[in-house]
Amino acid sequence: MDEVWDKPRPDATDRCDGCGAQAYVISRAFGTLMRWCVHHWRQGKEKLLPNVTELHDYSFLLEEA
Ligand SMILES: [Zn+2]
Repeated sequence: MDEVWDKPRPDATDRCDGCGAQAYVISRAFGTLMRWCVHHWRQGKEKLLPNVTELHDYSFLLEEA
């Protein structure tokens, strides 16, 4: 079954799939939920966005901190 994103915001267990840092962006593409740190999201989003069917962007949390 596909993983469901139902949290109000990412917590410490949500790590970037690329580097393991705190994840701030959650995306779904091709049915797969992926977690991104802001760095890797900025790097990958242009390629990924056309295929993204679900997007949760919490990068504003980084600016609040
Ligand atoms: Zn990363």
